[in-house]
Amino acid sequence: EQSIPSDAEIARNAEKMPIEDVVAPLGLEPTDLEKHGDHVAKLAPETTHELTNRESTDARYVLVTGMTPTPRGEGKTVTNVGLAQAFDRLGKSAVAAVREPSLGPVFGIKGGAAGGGYSQVLPMEDINLHFTGDLHAITSAHNLISATLDNHVHQGNDEGIDVTEVVWPRAIDANDRALRELVVGLGGSTNGKPREGGFVLTAASELMAVLCLADSVADLKERISRIVVAYDVDDEPVTVDDLGVTGAVAVLLKDAFQPNVVGTIEGTPAFVHGGPFANIAHGTNSIVADKVGGALADYVVTEAGFGADLGAEKFFDIVAPAADIQPSAATIVVSVRALKYHGKDMWPVEFDALEGKDVEAVRAGFANLDRHVSVLQKYGVPVVVAVNRFPDDTDAEVDAILEHCRNDLDVRAAESTVYRDGGEGGIDLAEAIDAAIDAHDDEFSPLYEQDAPVEEKIRTVATEVYGADGVTFTADARADLERLERVDLETAPVCLSKTPYSFSDDSSKNGAPEGWELTVRELRPSAGAGFVVALTGDVLTMPGLPSEPAALEMDLEDDGTVTGLF
Ligand code: ADP
Ligand code: MG
Repeated sequence: EQSIPSDAEIARNAEKMPIEDVVAPLGLEPTDLEKHGDHVAKLAPETTHELTNRESTDARYVLVTGMTPTPRGEGKTVTNVGLAQAFDRLGKSAVAAVREPSLGPVFGIKGGAAGGGYSQVLPMEDINLHFTGDLHAITSAHNLISATLDNHVHQGNDEGIDVTEVVWPRAIDANDRALRELVVGLGGSTNGKPREGGFVLTAASELMAVLCLADSVADLKERISRIVVAYDVDDEPVTVDDLGVTGAVAVLLKDAFQPNVVGTIEGTPAFVHGGPFANIAHGTNSIVADKVGGALADYVVTEAGFGADLGAEKFFDIVAPAADIQPSAATIVVSVRALKYHGKDMWPVEFDALEGKDVEAVRAGFANLDRHVSVLQKYGVPVVVAVNRFPDDTDAEVDAILEHCRNDLDVRAAESTVYRDGGEGGIDLAEAIDAAIDAHDDEFSPLYEQDAPVEEKIRTVATEVYGADGVTFTADARADLERLERVDLETAPVCLSKTPYSFSDDSSKNGAPEGWELTVRELRPSAGAGFVVALTGDVLTMPGLPSEPAALEMDLEDDGTVTGLF
């Protein structure tokens, strides 16, 4: 097994095509682009508008999802990029749609968010750093609302905002646990009214979800206007519209709303746009990127965060209906490492203990994969298993997975070596997906009726997707349910926030846990996004840094070369 250079080395040595050449096969002209250097562009506003409004296309939307991951990730983004490259190699017109990384994780936990090996989007450093400034714009727009809110209270509080009921935090794109909870407005009356506040990571801002779900400037403004920022002394919602800054917030987001386009290592076009959290938000790139991709190409390969229970569920039940997209197939990424983990009784994950070459240990974890496959099949889409091969995996281990899928589950499966081989390593997978789509005659449909009450939707997801016996609502959550009416969200889609490391709400229960009930602690209306967030367990909207942050490894050379960034 020859060793593969680091992601950074591969990225640095890759020959990047000018962005005009990358997008030319899609029929885009230089005038359709607003360039940011030679290799990155935003689509021009008119182009974005025209493409997002095109009548529904026949494009095949392929969702990349996964089994329940270990904290290191099992390779969805790598597969997402590699699969688009594979379709490209097969002579199809294909694009990847990828989320924008957040600076929090980039400087926190080591691990790129731009793919890896020979399946990366480039320029990897820029994409992982400031890129086209979208996250900074969202941060600024978010904090404009915060500043306006506190100023409104300071200037006489016409809306009668109850400062103990402010639900709009501040935002920053850094993992900074010291900012989670604090008091603002200290220092006397000229500094405003003291109240409790706190920060969320920009990826957790409702504005991020709003940007990713809006399909036009008009829709963006409509969604911004209805964001609930506080409740007044009569317990009525106060919105961004009430604060009068819908227009100003939209102005700050004007460029961020236009999708970014780059090339992969092999020159396949990739839209890298938007990056919402996958627990308190829906966790997929922007709908604009999905729509533009579908208007321009025959294949759009996109990723949903975490395992299929969280990511695919949200893509199918929230995003696809909002975007009016018919997903064509789901591919579920599995790794030998994660299967071994799910067959053992361990939490937290001890990675050293998963290293031995052991086919029986792999088989012991099949229950987790099987449940994900059966969940995905409930949506009426064909399911193809992608075995993402890591350097130390053996043929025997990989073959055991492929045989299990084909013989026991009756689903197509393929080994993917896109990390090592680029698009060439994804040809089998791409062909299996195509064959699965061609052979499939069921229709995609979301799991629940759009007009069902929130409580029923939560029960449906808990029992049908998570495998729970039922749902317990705490007294607080019950009270929240009663109050959904005041924000017109009684029948909104639900966005369940749950640990990604188990089907259940307990991270330590791996495999396919049975005989448990989901506890819902709190419901948070996201009126701008248009969904109700149901919190189960603790939810972190502002991560902290680990004991050895990735930042410690980074440096800038005299010639401008960045080192230590993965
Ligand atoms: P996900 O999107 O599922 O969280 P990623 O695609 O980001 O996972 O991969 C997680 C990490 O594992 C990344 O650092 C990536 O480069 C690495 N990785 C993924 N697939 C492979 C592979 N087949 N061989 C070696 N490293 C891999
Ligand atoms: Mg990913």
